[in-house]
Amino acid sequence: MKHIAIVGGGFAGLACAGRLGSQPDVRVTLIDRNNYHQFQPLLYQVATAQLGPSNVAFMLRSVLKDHANIDVKLAEVTSVDLKTRTVSISDGSSYQGDFLVLAAGSRPNFFGTPGAETNAFPLYSLRQAERLRSRILAVFESVDRDPPLIKRGALNFVVVGGGPTGTEIAGALADMIHDTMRAEYRDLAVQQAGIFLVDHGKAVLGPFTEKSQLYAAKMLQQRGVDLRLGLSVKEVAADGALLSDGTKILSHCVIWAGGLKASAVSEKTGIALGHGDRIDVQPDLTVAGFPSVYALGDFANIVGADGKPLPQLASVAEQCGKSCAKNIVADIVGRPREPFHHFDMGIMAMIGRNAAVAEVGQRHHALEGVIGFAAWLGVHAALLSTSRAKIDVFIDWAWNYFGNVRGAQILDRRSEAHINWNDTANPSVMDSAESVPPTSS
Ligand SMILES: Cc1cc2nc3c(=O)[nH]c(=O)nc-3n(C[C@H](O)[C@H](O)[C@H](O)COP(=O)(O)OP(=O)(O)OC[C@H]3O[C@@H](n4cnc5c(N)ncnc54)[C@H](O)[C@@H]3O)c2cc1C
Repeated sequence: MKHIAIVGGGFAGLACAGRLGSQPDVRVTLIDRNNYHQFQPLLYQVATAQLGPSNVAFMLRSVLKDHANIDVKLAEVTSVDLKTRTVSISDGSSYQGDFLVLAAGSRPNFFGTPGAETNAFPLYSLRQAERLRSRILAVFESVDRDPPLIKRGALNFVVVGGGPTGTEIAGALADMIHDTMRAEYRDLAVQQAGIFLVDHGKAVLGPFTEKSQLYAAKMLQQRGVDLRLGLSVKEVAADGALLSDGTKILSHCVIWAGGLKASAVSEKTGIALGHGDRIDVQPDLTVAGFPSVYALGDFANIVGADGKPLPQLASVAEQCGKSCAKNIVADIVGRPREPFHHFDMGIMAMIGRNAAVAEVGQRHHALEGVIGFAAWLGVHAALLSTSRAKIDVFIDWAWNYFGNVRGAQILDRRSEAHINWNDTANPSVMDSAESVPPTSS
């Protein structure tokens, strides 16, 4: 009986475990710091109260309950020994496998931007999405109590990064403010809120075609999003973001969608890391010099058939999880391993109600508007783990779409409600900056 230790129950780790679950003479231990699999593509909908946490997080034990040979362990991996294929966890105990699969995903990359780690709100985990949701609601509550705060940028939201995550959160935030906050905060929000999207590139949605980029920019602008392209964020202070052109946008809600790097586990492996602190893997997804150690998904740099690195996408992670399982079985039965081939299913991003871009299939056939919106809904529903989750998500989407009702507007992180409106910026940097007043949309 061979033992496979898998670190991470994301798309990659879960797909690998699921495939090995149907194999005889194999035992799997799946280790994750959370007892749930989180569905990252819908986190922005949790942050903007379209979905609740239970729509996007699924208990790992429950997802894998039909596989008697898979044991799930809730534990934080703190060190890795590639030679012995052993991982240690925070209580000092360890798990050793005949094979070790590293699929620990990614974390935000602040690229050393001063103040970003402390003051910005990243959007890469369920916990972060819930924290952001609480902060969005908290600034509205503060302004409701004390309307002059608007003059200090209280209803300004700054999104750092115009990739799919930044574009989706900016569009969803605009819809949230226009569709539901209008009734709940008596028009205050619609007239006074400002959403700024900052990106150093010249277009939003970098990986998409120019047609999709222009469509996304137009849809965001129609929703009142102020695009600040060709600029970078130099500093995130407690009271706003300083841009490379010297302007400062006052805000107590700066959302970080500026980039990713591999989870901290990669730093514990003791090997030289590649781009984004990820582990460079060989075509069969093993780590060079360690034939029984695999690295998958967002945790790895995987080169595609065209020689370019594959993007950090759920479909890539899921497919390489399955490929890894196949190669482990091949190793066990003495067959040669196969190189990983990624089947490109396309890319998509939701900009808001009835507005999405989808570039589907290997030729990236572009769909936009309502058809893109429908394609986005279908693909994301299909990716969800359980049929119960699919039904719940569709009910919540329908409520939101037809009734303008957001069932999940819960301010459950009380710490985010305690905003210090008297905080001052670092004077040496901020004094010279021109402040951007709140805009009306
Ligand atoms: C906001 C957002 C939106 C996205 N939208 C899309 C989209 O629309 N379409 C798409 O295809 N992709 C999308 N992606 C990308 C996609 O979600 C990722 O590519 C995918 O989740 C990667 O899967 P993974 O298994 O490699 O890592 P993850 O899904 O991140 O899983 C990693 C797992 O490792 C665990 N872990 C990490 N460190 C430790 C540790 N020290 N100890 C124990 N466990 C640990 C984590 O808890 C997690 O469960 C999005 C990503 C984000 C952040």
